[in-house]
Amino acid sequence: MKLVDTHAHLTDGRFRDDLDAVVQRADEAGVGTIITLAAALEECEAVLKLAERFPSVCAAVGVHPHAAGVSPADVTDALAEFAKHPKVVAIGEAGMDYHYLPGRMQQRPDLDAPTKAGQRRVFTQQLELAARLDKPIVIHLRECAADLLELVAPYRGRLRGVFHCFSEDSDVARRVVEMGFHISFSGMLTFKKNETLREVAAQLPPERVMVETDCPYMSPEPHRSKRCEPSFVVHTAAALATARGVPVETVARQTTENAARLFQLPC
Ligand SMILES: [Zn+2]
Ligand SMILES: [Zn+2]
Repeated sequence: MKLVDTHAHLTDGRFRDDLDAVVQRADEAGVGTIITLAAALEECEAVLKLAERFPSVCAAVGVHPHAAGVSPADVTDALAEFAKHPKVVAIGEAGMDYHYLPGRMQQRPDLDAPTKAGQRRVFTQQLELAARLDKPIVIHLRECAADLLELVAPYRGRLRGVFHCFSEDSDVARRVVEMGFHISFSGMLTFKKNETLREVAAQLPPERVMVETDCPYMSPEPHRSKRCEPSFVVHTAAALATARGVPVETVARQTTENAARLFQLPC
């Protein structure tokens, strides 16, 4: 059984001391490819280094919404330069996230406007770049589905990509699929309380689903208290198989084929 961890953050400090062992364990668990993503311009160099160091690791370069506020006005040229590396398979982690808006705690929505505008600007730059370079985009979406989908909609038919660590409802999932995008599930799919998410997962077309860890975050059951790592993606694949009522080998084959096709994996 072969799997692809389509979303990892191997440059995180929590992997500093044992990354070789982490990649080795992934290999032993059948995780043939790990895509490690940069969340800020300062991380791009580091993800490229990891992709050069490990044959099974590919890279994505992007700016996460949480880094939008501290990024240059235009990130396009810097990302385009990093994206020339042969092991860069996507633009990302990009997207929008309204969970930590500054006005939220103070019930002052007027304070949120600059943060939202900054996230929109940096996300749009990455949508445009991914379309121009014909690379898939990896999209982070949290508590802003309507605003984000409005930005992605005009790219329908000329941009491919994935909505990662998916936790939205069936309505958002349907719109994502209609726009031609993929949906990737993290360890959240294994959490007992996420029955609704498993129902969403059960209904997706088989050619659009993928699995990921989002490590070091989001450890799946039965490892929830531990640091997450790519080998744990087997638990998410098993949960997806149960939800869809198919053998785990089927889910492994489908999700790996989907990842290989979407990212045109060189590794
Ligand atoms: Zn994310
Ligand atoms: Zn991430």
